[in-house]
Amino acid sequence: MLAQILQELQKKQVKLVAVSKKKPVEQIQKFYNQGHKIFGENYIQELKAKQEQLPNDIEWHFIGHLQSNKVKDIAAFIRLIHTVDSLKLLTEINKRAKQNERIIDCLLQFHIAQESSKFGLQWQDAQEILTSDKFNQLHNVNIVGVMGMASFTEDQNQVREEFRILKSIFDRLKSEFFNQKDDFYHISMGMSGDYPLAIEEGSTMVRIGSLLFGKRD
Ligand SMILES: *Cc1c(COP(=O)(O)O)cnc(C)c1O
Repeated sequence: MLAQILQELQKKQVKLVAVSKKKPVEQIQKFYNQGHKIFGENYIQELKAKQEQLPNDIEWHFIGHLQSNKVKDIAAFIRLIHTVDSLKLLTEINKRAKQNERIIDCLLQFHIAQESSKFGLQWQDAQEILTSDKFNQLHNVNIVGVMGMASFTEDQNQVREEFRILKSIFDRLKSEFFNQKDDFYHISMGMSGDYPLAIEEGSTMVRIGSLLFGKRD
């Protein structure tokens, strides 16, 4: 399954984040042994425990809701945080990155779903953050794109429409704020159930869990 998905994604130059939440280290190690090194986790304690047990060259992505007081636990090693949804969080990531003498790559998470339960920024929130004096002083975080989750629905048209919204937010951010920045590049959208649609709508990075690892309890 991994090889099949990777082949499909490589043709389109889309990155695969293998979402390993609630799955044992043995299963991650198996994919690692097949050559895959990018894994996504949702829970801080679980991520920390796995990171300590697994090879050092794994590229860990954080994709869950992140509380500011937990940033310190992953700041030394996290490669990409997909879920930045406030200036407060970004400020804390910057502080902990600096303590670790690192620059941490981040994506701005946008609320694109109809459901009220999903986290994320609206356009105005992002605009406020990016135009603030405070943001300009954060030299240890690097914004490299956007992330979003579509509604959990069978309605393909709705899902497609939500992915289009995220792509248009990305395009607008790129032209208004990151015009000169080649590494503002990523659109993290698409999961097991909707990743082909997400790729059609411009995804550069898909987050696939159950399709690779099997269903979670
Ligand atoms: C769990 C999760 C995924 C993967 O979901 P699957 O449907 O198992 O592929 C992707 N993104 C986020 C943010 C998740 O929490």
